[in-house]
Amino acid sequence: MATIPPGGTIGILGGGQLGRMLAMAAAELGLRTHIYCPDEELPAADVAGETTRAGYDDEAALARFADGVDVVTYEFENVPAAAARILSEHSIVRPGPIALATAQDRLVEKNFLKAQGIATAPFADVSDETSLRDAVEAIGTPSILKTRRFGYDGKGQAKIAAPENALAAYDEIGRAPAILEGFVPFEREISVVVARGLDGETAAYDPVENIHKNHILDRTLAPAALTKALADEACAIAARIVSELDYVGVMGVEMFLLPESGPKISHARRLLVNEIAPRVHNSGHWTMDACAVSQFEQHVRAICGWPLGRPDRHSDAVMTNLIGDEVADWARLAAEPQTAIHLYGKREARPGRKMGHATRLYPLGK
Ligand code: AMP
Repeated sequence: MATIPPGGTIGILGGGQLGRMLAMAAAELGLRTHIYCPDEELPAADVAGETTRAGYDDEAALARFADGVDVVTYEFENVPAAAARILSEHSIVRPGPIALATAQDRLVEKNFLKAQGIATAPFADVSDETSLRDAVEAIGTPSILKTRRFGYDGKGQAKIAAPENALAAYDEIGRAPAILEGFVPFEREISVVVARGLDGETAAYDPVENIHKNHILDRTLAPAALTKALADEACAIAARIVSELDYVGVMGVEMFLLPESGPKISHARRLLVNEIAPRVHNSGHWTMDACAVSQFEQHVRAICGWPLGRPDRHSDAVMTNLIGDEVADWARLAAEPQTAIHLYGKREARPGRKMGHATRLYPLGK
């Protein structure tokens, strides 16, 4: 079990805001970072020791990058399998390939959860028009057709209101391999940010409530207003997932909370897992200001084989994403008491682009 002490170097695949906040957390622990990303603009490169700008298919560059670092991690789940293989031939990759393969493909992910007895929306495989018809018959409508791969923030999804809309929805997602999911009449969306260390220890931050605008996370309320039994169940589900995947690092587990009364989708349970993200997660940004150890430091600790920090909060918090032009509000936010602002250094505030976030702190339990 290789532990990476201060002075070591973490390689981070991806150069966005998550990589940037990981690099800053690593620096605070005396660790160096090397960013690998093909993009032009790299928010993470501003704060990292070294940057390689190269494609995820550039085998020689990947090998050189991995040879020069003590551990490789990533800030996004769509790392090509071939790149992950090359990296693991030349370094340690954490989280490992099983977690990556599971989270990259919605069908594999849902089948994994089902095999663990973890409730999800009802789902069916769609690979052609015949299986689409069968899936609509089995799942019914309303339902949502989702591409198996490369979907995020509502992209690669089409709602099917009635069976006769199924083909149009299939066209809308480009007839890509997909799953059909039953539409969940959820009361709220919550998530658990959980970590698992190299020694198998797990630590979950309390569940939070997530409010979306235009399919993009707008606000996170920490903690979610839940009974202790539900909060414990959500954390236990998240801990089971990371343990079953032999996971090392931080994971975001998104869940739907069903209303207390009304139809239950699966096994009469109120919590359904929507998806898992094998990385630090937007719904965990509040931990930077409301916990002694943030999700970013926690991820660094886990992948370097350090003891995990306790996930306790010293404050309650509301995290608001600054999307597109909203970032123009930075001066007003900076003048607010008990508000921490984090700006990602992106040059252009395009619509839908995450430019930063602000976290307002409140006394516990208020
Ligand atoms: P996803 O990309 O799977 O996280 O989906 C993005 C958003 O679409 C979720 O945060 C939900 O608000 C909504 N959504 C996804 N799947 C379902 C579903 N089966 N039923 C109802 N809403 C859904």
